Amino acid sequence: MAALKIGVIGGSGLENPELLENFKQKEVDTPFGKPSSPITTGRINGVDVFIISRHGVKHEIPPTQVNNRANIFALKNEGCKYIIATTAVGSLREDIRRGDFVILDQFIDFTKQRKLTFFEQFEFGPVHTPMPEPFSNILRKKLIESCHKLGHAYHEKGTVVTIEGPRFSTKAESKMFQQFGADVINMSIAPEAILANEAEVPYGVIAMSTDYDCWKEDEEPASWEVIRMVMRENTERVKKVLLETINSFSRDEEIRKLKESIRTIPNFPKQGIMFRDITTLLKDKDALRKLIDMLYDRYKDFAIDAVAGIESRGFVLAGMLAGRLGTGLVLIRKPGKLPAETISEPYNLEYGVDSVEIHKDAISPKQKILLVDDLIATGGTALASCKLITQLQGEIVECCFPIELPELKGREKLEQANQKVFTLMKFEGE
Ligand code: AMP
Repeated sequence: MAALKIGVIGGSGLENPELLENFKQKEVDTPFGKPSSPITTGRINGVDVFIISRHGVKHEIPPTQVNNRANIFALKNEGCKYIIATTAVGSLREDIRRGDFVILDQFIDFTKQRKLTFFEQFEFGPVHTPMPEPFSNILRKKLIESCHKLGHAYHEKGTVVTIEGPRFSTKAESKMFQQFGADVINMSIAPEAILANEAEVPYGVIAMSTDYDCWKEDEEPASWEVIRMVMRENTERVKKVLLETINSFSRDEEIRKLKESIRTIPNFPKQGIMFRDITTLLKDKDALRKLIDMLYDRYKDFAIDAVAGIESRGFVLAGMLAGRLGTGLVLIRKPGKLPAETISEPYNLEYGVDSVEIHKDAISPKQKILLVDDLIATGGTALASCKLITQLQGEIVECCFPIELPELKGREKLEQANQKVFTLMKFEGE
């Protein structure tokens, strides 16, 4: 399958042969003229990235002259499924400080001289693109998660007003934009967002606040020198957010492939049950390695003492993970299988009633335990297993299930009992 393609517009810091496998730069042309810069392309973690410098490689293109139509067209033409833009913004709010990131969710277009449509003639009928939510929520969620993960100061929402420029606002204008409800101000985003929406390419922005425009009496009014300085100081952080977001897309892709490696057997072991059979994943060496790598990455820094596996498919995964993590392995079994003294806990299964058992000496008080099974359905088995661990005074770090059947609400059951739940793949009816 072809790799996912993502377009990036703005100063991204990614245009680096050391970051981009197969680094290339190519000149392209479009029916709307040339984009602002050659496209720099390459692969990051299995994702093909296409980068355009909005203001040209040497920042020679003023906002009014940026050929947004060519930029968006060129990226769409390369097959980009998403476009992520970076931009510097002035803050119109006290609490959006210099260096803070804002994941924009709305714009107000105050430009006056831009080309704002691909449809200058309605040759094939009228085109009036709806734009109530101009920024892709998929991208916004990923950008927010990336900022969160990296520990950056960020604002989950923000309305940007885009002005014509290249001059900055007057105080009267700046205060008026505050009255409008704008949170930040810049000279680039609205036209790009409009065109990306027309072109039907999901578009998201990571905006960085560099100044307080000119409304704030105790701050110097915005100047290009200050904006450039704050941007330079923060390039590395912007680059990290972009890399994390791209990696998150590549993780989604890996999870999608893992999901494809799982077989579904309808009506097993009872009529109406869609049995999710992981034996097909287990026998596939690449899929198995990927799954264990992903779980290892998640848990390597959790200081876990032992992984507890639930019979029987949970044993396989728990065993492999314990091996990778270098922890102990604890077995939670069906009744009558464990030879030494046990404690037992009954539960209802999606298809029947059962109980689980554990050796009384399997866990010592305060040991950090990761509970693992292949799948969470109603959560009955896992909750009973948690009770066993808690009775032995083990501390459950998290309950981990590669597969989740959300309709059966196992997650809710465990979370109500104050347990943390981690799953990778959801199967919903299909
Ligand atoms: P539950 O207690 O309802 O969360 O059920 C989870 C246990 O039952 C896990 O050990 C699963 O391996 C098994 N299980 C339940 N439903 C399914 C299913 N549809 N496909 C595969 N395994 C299942």
